[in-house]
Amino acid sequence: MQYIGVSCACDGTADQYAVKRSYLDAVRRCGGCPVLLTQLTPPESLPHLVAGLDGLLVPGGIDVSPLLYGQEPIQAVTFTQEAQDRFELALIREAVAQGKPILAVCRGAQLVNVALGGTLYQDIHEQAGATICHRQDSRIPSECTHTISTVPGTLFERLMNGQTAVNSFHHQAIRDLAPGLVAAAWSADGILEAFESPTRPILGVQFHPELLLDAAPGFLALFQQLVHWE
Ligand code: MN
Repeated sequence: MQYIGVSCACDGTADQYAVKRSYLDAVRRCGGCPVLLTQLTPPESLPHLVAGLDGLLVPGGIDVSPLLYGQEPIQAVTFTQEAQDRFELALIREAVAQGKPILAVCRGAQLVNVALGGTLYQDIHEQAGATICHRQDSRIPSECTHTISTVPGTLFERLMNGQTAVNSFHHQAIRDLAPGLVAAAWSADGILEAFESPTRPILGVQFHPELLLDAAPGFLALFQQLVHWE
């Protein structure tokens, strides 16, 4: 059995912790056992805890605090939770240090980039000249609303297997990629939609494959890669 850590978000008061079931179902579909992790994990236990995991799934969620990548927040960033960010950053860094596979989605991908020294656009319309809709109506989350161009020769391109459209629920994106990461896909308006590491088992995607699995089962390949990374 492959044990895959999944970080839970906390509510605004840090009184409840939760993760969307779609992430856990995706791990189960690949034969993995999801292990829910919260920011109440004592920091000193992280090395031992991560050592027992076979991979880490970092889910989507709220904006990352710009303070953590050296910026003051612009007006478009109204809600952040630095304690939650710090927990997930520590978790990601421990997983990277131990060489554990990581699949990171949306906010999770942004966190991985920040954990490794990268920066973010706080708002892609204001700062990155985004011109297409990256924040679709959520009534049909499996609706693929914009295309992406995969970078030839990447692992991500192979896993996508010709799929060229994705869903989109973000107003932020990666600005400067962290050292050691490479671009794996771009949107038509130049927003980074996926990255990977050529040397480490790390994949990050800006879209939400966990919401596409019924409509487009091919996206399960991303989770298969996480659970069974060779
Ligand atoms: Mn997008």
